[in-house]
Amino acid sequence: MTRHSSPASAFAGVASDAVRRQNLSAILRRVHAHGPASRSTLATLTGLNRSTVGALVGDLVDRGLVEESNPSATGLPGRPSPIVAVRPTGAVVLAVELSVDSIAVGLVGLGGTILARRRTPRERENRTVDAVIAAVAEETRLLRGSAEPVEIRAIGVAVAGVVRRSDGFLVVAPNLEWRDVPLRQRLSVALGLDVPIVVGNDADLVTLAEHTRGVGEGTTDFICLWGEAGVGAGIVSEGRPLRGRSGLAGEVGHLPLRPNGRRCHCGARGCWETEIGEDALLRAIGREGEPGGPARVDDVIAAAERGDSATLEALATIGGWLGVGLAGLVNLLDPQRIALGGLFGRLHPFVAPAIADELDRRRMTRHREPVEVVPAELGVDAPLVGAAEIALAPLLDNPSDAPARGDSGQGPLRDMNEEVTPALTA
Ligand SMILES: [Zn+2]
Repeated sequence: MTRHSSPASAFAGVASDAVRRQNLSAILRRVHAHGPASRSTLATLTGLNRSTVGALVGDLVDRGLVEESNPSATGLPGRPSPIVAVRPTGAVVLAVELSVDSIAVGLVGLGGTILARRRTPRERENRTVDAVIAAVAEETRLLRGSAEPVEIRAIGVAVAGVVRRSDGFLVVAPNLEWRDVPLRQRLSVALGLDVPIVVGNDADLVTLAEHTRGVGEGTTDFICLWGEAGVGAGIVSEGRPLRGRSGLAGEVGHLPLRPNGRRCHCGARGCWETEIGEDALLRAIGREGEPGGPARVDDVIAAAERGDSATLEALATIGGWLGVGLAGLVNLLDPQRIALGGLFGRLHPFVAPAIADELDRRRMTRHREPVEVVPAELGVDAPLVGAAEIALAPLLDNPSDAPARGDSGQGPLRDMNEEVTPALTA
């Protein structure tokens, strides 16, 4: 860009820098979230001309964030346009998941690529803050020791609790029995990596992951219900996460459904979680008070798959309560699609009919477009993928933060469409 000395031109220069940053971000975000795209597709999507896209892609190549390849010959008429894809190792973050039954750590690169991960089950008896933080540090050390050496740019943490995103302060995690934990600060000391740390609620981050690259992709209004030991949800409304005043929104597990119902882990009575969560599942199959966890859920699913009638009946009851709560959310939020993740994703085949019945009975607009209730797509890694997403966000917003290498070895490819003669073919 040419800079001029007059104030008006200087302002235009600042504005152009902002525009350039936005355009770099748009291109990087597109290939990060949706996979490889040709330069001509990127030009169409961004509304920029091809030479501008070529220059922007060249900048991203120079920073090691994307790479280009010549498309394979398609046999179709027309000149091929280079394909732009992220370099997963171009920016790597550490993703951490703190759930009730396990700790997971992963090295996640651009494109949501999990380069390495470790998941370790935890006893529910040994989950004091000190023990869990020490375990995260140890797991991270083992992970880095076993993986290719990479520079970690940032750390994203998904935790099964209510978190203030601004400072990573955990307000309460009923199922971990934690309260008022300065989690970001504690992890910063324990991990000793001098990089930014962002902490989010696990259900919010699962929702972000599913909305970016899972079953919520392409929707503007999307809910993901996430069940592990507890129940949470993330809500996307008009394309944006619904966060509330302090980022604490989405605690649907604690919607009061039965004013005089059972006591919940949160201290209140009759929360939705008490009718659909893991405790409710154990109660429904006659195992109330026994230890929960993934192995117990495996037993339930195995019994359901065998066609055990008592189990199927219990799951229909859970499905009915799922449907009651979801009908409330549908009437309130008008989503296009609802994803069931974690525990609920696994139960989906057995609870879907009861959910559909309740939705049909209680939805105000049931005669209009149906709401899809589908299992989540990203499975157990969804919290890690979402945690990586918030850790990568500053770079995705401003790719110029990544240093130019100048020695990438791969100059930008020529876009055939800029050439007078179609010289190169793959
Ligand atoms: Zn509650």
